[in-house]
Amino acid sequence: MCFYCGGLATSVDHVIPHSTRGWSRRLEGSGDTVPCCHECNRLIADDWPGDPLRRTECLLTRFTAKHNLTSPTIEWSEEELEELHGNLARRFRALQQQWALRQSRRGHMRLRIVQLRRLPADLEGNPL
Ligand SMILES: [Zn+2]
Repeated sequence: MCFYCGGLATSVDHVIPHSTRGWSRRLEGSGDTVPCCHECNRLIADDWPGDPLRRTECLLTRFTAKHNLTSPTIEWSEEELEELHGNLARRFRALQQQWALRQSRRGHMRLRIVQLRRLPADLEGNPL
């Protein structure tokens, strides 16, 4: 599972831990890498800094801008969709599913940011 968006991980992303206390081992990683999907890996590329919190924040901004996810989508009911025919209806449903999936990945990134911001305090209370 992609560390950032929760999608299918097909590669690893190299990060520089912001703590020397093994944060990424606690978060599914191997110490200096985390599992990552193709799109997230491409969007963050080799940008500095390598700190996982900053990387996730940067990724969220780029992902949101790339897919224009802050503009409202048009919600159509099933009855309205029934009035569309053939390819148009299929295309519209596919677009709605794609939009929902991207919002879900964006939500995963936001949760990861919250988790990474909390981490130093968690580690203080639970030394490894
Ligand atoms: Zn991803």
